[in-house]
Amino acid sequence: MKHNFGAGPCILPQEVFKQAADAVLDFNGLSILEVSHRHKDYVAVMDEALDLVKKALNVPAGYSVAYLQGGATLGFTIVALNMMRENKKAAYINTGTWASGAIKEAKKAGIDVNVIASSEDKGFTYIPKNLEIPSGMDYLHFTSNNTIYGTQYHEFPKTDLPLVCDMSSDIFSKEINVADFDLIYAGAQKNLGPAGATLYIVKDEILGKSTSPFMPTYLDLKQHVEKESMLNTPPVFSVYVAMLNLRNLLANGGVKAKEAENNAKAELLYNEIDSNPLFFGTVNTEDRSKMNICFKLHDESLGDKFDAAWKGAGIVGLPGHRSVGGYRASMYNALPLSSVQVLVDVMKEFTRVNG
Ligand SMILES: *Cc1c(COP(=O)(O)O)cnc(C)c1O
Repeated sequence: MKHNFGAGPCILPQEVFKQAADAVLDFNGLSILEVSHRHKDYVAVMDEALDLVKKALNVPAGYSVAYLQGGATLGFTIVALNMMRENKKAAYINTGTWASGAIKEAKKAGIDVNVIASSEDKGFTYIPKNLEIPSGMDYLHFTSNNTIYGTQYHEFPKTDLPLVCDMSSDIFSKEINVADFDLIYAGAQKNLGPAGATLYIVKDEILGKSTSPFMPTYLDLKQHVEKESMLNTPPVFSVYVAMLNLRNLLANGGVKAKEAENNAKAELLYNEIDSNPLFFGTVNTEDRSKMNICFKLHDESLGDKFDAAWKGAGIVGLPGHRSVGGYRASMYNALPLSSVQVLVDVMKEFTRVNG
């Protein structure tokens, strides 16, 4: 078995892979890949997949959950169109590639975007704080975990504005208070399931209030909520596996237990990075992500040797994003502590030999 530190699509629990494989061959006498999404057995899957999100995150009354397609990338447009109000202005925080993507698409959707804070001056290596939010904004958008750079909000922005968050790479990794948000969205392929489904958690109050003159049916969250994620053919398999993964999560202590495990995994690797003389962490210490841990070698000429060492230990997916280089250990919920220990042991041994 490989140790998969890939950033997404990524590791899911082995039991979930097994159950998913079984359902490809036999889902009540059919394959999950051929069953009609209108069949009562599949409607039950969708109902459970929606319900388990509510259970896992203690989603309060007055909020709905929906599965769409299009990834978080289409989410950039969907949130802008659905949150647009009289002002047609919104505040965005730019913490890197995905946040910039959200800004770009909001502008295309007709939002006058006000970038109220950015960490671009230091290569997106920190989370901007002390926000000053101008008046007249329809909402505030931010990205809770910056998958590419390895920064994460450990305290969410405080505002009276409707709060919108791209939580693609840290949803279900820690407890959150859903009531703080008007809209949360997340591509499935990091902590939820296989690529294909995109999760939306939406305050019912915001539905149907858009002032956008352009609102294709598929992009209107109200339609998806009313049709219980069956407006059109949903990503049947992706939602099925998300349901299996959520069952697995809840059977193993839920988000609270995962948070403790994720803290232990992050502590193990950051301790090694900080104590090992050959390596250094690349982002502001207090903003370090527990999902995507970015680090580099002081001496890049040792890169080929280090690559051979971790590959030899069965590790995959460790190179940093092509835009930042170095290394990125993505440690989503399903990555066991034992895999992190393998990486730490490789780093220790590498330094013993080359340090
Ligand atoms: C992966 C990722 C995206 C892009 O998701 P797609 O589902 O590929 O569109 C957006 N935002 C964040 C924070 C991500 O990690």
